Amino acid sequence: MSHSPEDVARYVCNDCQLIHAGTPRRTATGKRSFDPPEDCGGCGSDDLIAIQNWVHHQSGD
Ligand SMILES: [Zn+2]
Repeated sequence: MSHSPEDVARYVCNDCQLIHAGTPRRTATGKRSFDPPEDCGGCGSDDLIAIQNWVHHQSGD
């Protein structure tokens, strides 16, 4: 299991499968966190799934 040094959250559009980087923000505790994009830049859908959930989604679990 390898971790990317840049731990950027990524989100997949459920409609066109375009991948988007999360929007970085700082939490109240000073940790870095990411928000999903408001909507898909490709098709305008707001149905964006975190990529770690997308893997489960695709494997039919
Ligand atoms: Zn899309």
